[in-house]
This record gives sequence, C-alpha cells and structure tokens, in this order.
Amino acid sequence: MKFTQPKLPYAQDALAPVISPLTIEYHYGKHEKAYIDMLNKLIEGTEFADMSLEEIIVKSEGKLFNNAAQAWNHIFYFFQFSPDGIKEPSGELRAAIEQQFGSLDEFKKKFEEAGATLFGSGWVWLAADSDNKLYIIQGKNAENPMTQGLKPLMVFDVWEHAYYLDYQNLRADYLHKLWDIVDWDVIETRFRK
Ligand code: MN
Repeated sequence: MKFTQPKLPYAQDALAPVISPLTIEYHYGKHEKAYIDMLNKLIEGTEFADMSLEEIIVKSEGKLFNNAAQAWNHIFYFFQFSPDGIKEPSGELRAAIEQQFGSLDEFKKKFEEAGATLFGSGWVWLAADSDNKLYIIQGKNAENPMTQGLKPLMVFDVWEHAYYLDYQNLRADYLHKLWDIVDWDVIETRFRK
C-alpha cells in the first residue's frame, strides 16, 4: 500500500469533550481510513501510482479526486488539533488576520458562519495566496483550495459524520467549540511554509 494512515499525534480521548473518543474512533478510525484504503486501490497500476498525494489531487477528477482529497483533508484536519496547543495566532499570521478581518474574534465569527451556512457536506477553509492574502473558502464535498492555487492553512470538517455523535444536528455549536483545540502553532507553521 502506497499511502499509510498517519497515527494521531494525541490519544483518542485527548480532544474530549470537544471531540469525543467515539467520534475519533469513527471519524479517524473508519472514515479517514476508508478514504486512504480506497485511494490506494484506485491508483494501483495507474499513472497516479508514483505521484505524491498533492499531485494526485491536482491532476485527478471524479472518484479518484474525491478519495485523494478526502484522505488529504482529513489528515490535515486531525493534525491541526492538540489538547494543549497554542490558543491564539501571533506574528505575521495574527497581523494578516487582524488587517483583513478586523480582529481575531471577527475572523472566528466569519469562519464559523461560513461553516454553518455551507449547504450539505463539505469543508470550511482558511487559505493563503502567494502574497499571504487570506481567504475563507466554503468547499463542497471533497474540495480543496490547492486546486485553485491557494495554500491551505486550516480546515473545519462540516460533513455530518464529523459532529453528529457529539452535537447531533447542532453544527454551529461544534464549529464554535473547535477553537478550544486548534493549535495555532500548527497553523502558523503552515502559513510560513
Ligand atoms: Mn470527515
């Protein structure tokens, strides 16, 4: 198997009560794993077999794109959380957020709104262009800002499987609680790359 599922950098119960161990068991253990397994199956013996995951996402479409992007998006999602991460951005990222959105709180509000109003399944992204201009993007289904030439910095999963066990239909509550576990050190590292 070419792509293996990375182990989480924290224990299964480390993000509770924001994300319960049961949600991790299903969301990471079943959903993320299924996308990676299917991706490996789909690329076997094809021109995609020797490509990086990012290359596959940019060059594929249909079922392969969906599984490759969902694999990447979930890995990116779970690695931005920590039970004891940095709770606020600083430096250039902080300055960019304040300049473009007014304040960190205003940014968070807009980001939550984008997640809450995305109809159906998808992802809400924070992404940057090559001039470090920031964008809040609603992505349907498996969409990823990489395909628009943007650099992904942060993502909240708004597929129902991400929150239904813990929040039932209350997507907005789930989005609001996620700030408690975002590790801004991870986001800043992505921004500086
Ligand atoms: Mn998901």
